[in-house]
Amino acid sequence: MAFEINTVNTVRARRFASHAKPGIWRDEPETSWNSWIWQQQKRIKSMDQLRQVIKVTPEEEEAFAKSHEQFNMGITPYYASLIDPNDPNCPIRLQSVPKKGELTIRSEDMEDPLAEERDMPVPGITHRYPDRVLFYTTHNCPVYCRHCTRKRKVADPSSATANKQLEMGLDYIASHKEIRDVVISGGDPLSNSDDRLEYILSRLRAMDHIEVFRLGTRNLVTLPQRITDDFAKMLSKYHPVFVHTHFNHPKECTQEAFDACARLANAGCVINNQMVLLKGVNDDWRIVKELNHKLLMMRVRPYYIFQCDMSQGISHFRTPVEKGLEIIENLRGWTSGMAVPHYVIDAPGGGGKIPMLPKYLEKHEGRKWYLRNFKNEKYVYEEPAND
Ligand SMILES: *Cc1c(COP(=O)(O)O)cnc(C)c1O
Ligand code: SF4
Repeated sequence: MAFEINTVNTVRARRFASHAKPGIWRDEPETSWNSWIWQQQKRIKSMDQLRQVIKVTPEEEEAFAKSHEQFNMGITPYYASLIDPNDPNCPIRLQSVPKKGELTIRSEDMEDPLAEERDMPVPGITHRYPDRVLFYTTHNCPVYCRHCTRKRKVADPSSATANKQLEMGLDYIASHKEIRDVVISGGDPLSNSDDRLEYILSRLRAMDHIEVFRLGTRNLVTLPQRITDDFAKMLSKYHPVFVHTHFNHPKECTQEAFDACARLANAGCVINNQMVLLKGVNDDWRIVKELNHKLLMMRVRPYYIFQCDMSQGISHFRTPVEKGLEIIENLRGWTSGMAVPHYVIDAPGGGGKIPMLPKYLEKHEGRKWYLRNFKNEKYVYEEPAND
């Protein structure tokens, strides 16, 4: 079963432009470029390789030299092709190329701000909420995001999730009947082979108490070639399957990403986006609005905007909380409600996600609620009397 995309009747032809391949790959056949295995094998891991694709700055050279032992660099040719070679502040570049800000560790920074290790009943499972768990299935990702909140674990070969750990996680989920929702995470779970993923999904689907699962993956953004027809077809055997992805900027909404989302959506998956609010990348409501409009055209529903966590080495990405509130203020009412995600702070210390909202409730007296709308006009809602 192939999912044909009609380029006349979809928005793709109008909105999702192709982009040029950087010079070093210009002569690669399309079959290589479109193969996720090729993309995975040709990942940029050194400055020598990066210099062939973009104009690297001295700051980036220094940041790479001082950071790559703690946190690898890894960039797929596809994602690298989205980088502006001449703009050191390109939003794609800020997310994938080391910068000096990473070397600063502030006194408030934490190694494990979300206390994911503390809430681990068995290695590889974080069980914080009553009815759902996070399940780590690998530590690899096609692109290592510079803003990753799990820097301490991701890309670290010594923390590979072995099969034994996978079995322990599955056994834990099987024996805890209160779990109905499993967030399959990592790293990026799509770094597992289709066979290993299918094994995980089939084990979970065989448990009567498991209602839904989600694949938390950035492959739609960094390696959209990974979403093959075969992969989409495999997922469609285990519905309901939710895919939670991580687009941060409209530049990431390319034709390739559009096609990958279409393959998943046509196979019946529901796709949600979890954006991270990042200084210099998307800390402007106009950018977020454009991103969310593009996502809706890709059948991806904006789900969360995360305030940047207090992990070590990402403080240069953190914005004031006011910035997130300002973004919501400029979306709610001004555009489709579908384009308005929840802005949340994942509470340091493991408190879970806490929604942050502009103040729409001015006061509350007895049965009367004094409200303001998106245009700052005042309204009173009155509850019925208890008679
Ligand atoms: C984010 C998260 C979830 C999922 O939360 P939702 O609000 O349901 O999307 C589950 N477990 C942990 C530990 C999480 O951090
Ligand atoms: S894909 Fe996710 S887990 Fe992997 S580096 Fe990026 S943010 Fe971290």
